[in-house]
Amino acid sequence: MQAHSDEMRCLGKKIVFVPTMGFLHEGHLSLMREGLRHGDYLVVSIFVNPTQFAQGEDLDSYPRSLERDLELVEKEGAGAAFTPRENELYPEDFQTYVSLESLPRHLCGISRPTFFRGVTTVVSKLFNIVKPHIAVFGEKDYQQLIIIRRMVRDMNFDIGIVGAPTIREPDGLAMSSRNAYLTKAQRPAALSLYKSLLKAKTIVQSRIIKAARVIDEAKIIITAHAETDIDYINVCDPRTLDDMPIIDRPALMALAVRVGKTRLIDNVLLVP
Ligand code: AMP
Repeated sequence: MQAHSDEMRCLGKKIVFVPTMGFLHEGHLSLMREGLRHGDYLVVSIFVNPTQFAQGEDLDSYPRSLERDLELVEKEGAGAAFTPRENELYPEDFQTYVSLESLPRHLCGISRPTFFRGVTTVVSKLFNIVKPHIAVFGEKDYQQLIIIRRMVRDMNFDIGIVGAPTIREPDGLAMSSRNAYLTKAQRPAALSLYKSLLKAKTIVQSRIIKAARVIDEAKIIITAHAETDIDYINVCDPRTLDDMPIIDRPALMALAVRVGKTRLIDNVLLVP
């Protein structure tokens, strides 16, 4: 892959990179299309990264569909798909990790304390292997996006990071490979995440209010469904992720909720 990227760079290609864990959906495809607006040689990686799963999480059951994924990647006009094996990226004596100080201590990092270390480590490795000029990440994983931006600045990676908006199902549910775990009966519960975010948007429009107010409303909407278990609902500064008790400027509202065994996340920007 490194030799191939060197060759593409010598030919004057601008390499754009979309890292994924596969089981591709429209959200992933939108990142690829966005990528091709910023460069002319698209590389997509498909790798279910073990270092971002903790013990007891869904590494083994994570949905996989490599053949179908490769067809989709080709259809989107990618020049290459990078599909390393686990022992290629993590040989037995692997012992180097990349981690940030404070951004991972918020939101998802509280209940998944080793998650972002796995993400930043694998993304660093993929950056060094694929050697892109530009990489595209989804705003659906907002904390991940700003952690990657921070890492790129802090570590002087010579790569431009592009954020792309969240793609939703027609009913509003944010697309996710993990949606495949949901049963039909769990769908209304899954949808309550976005409903609570939309409700918050409406409440905040045209007035300054306390974050606790929209968080309480969201809790009511979500807990009305039996199978839900809230991990967090947070209103925070979009750059630092520090809590914002009063919504007097644009704020990120982010949440993570378990629906049955499936952990879902979503977020919106609240603009008073
Ligand atoms: P994943 O395969 O879940 O690791 O996601 C790979 C990339 O796709 C990440 O940058 C995600 O933020 C992005 N992504 C996942 N779901 C969506 C979505 N519904 N809309 C936009 N981007 C997404």
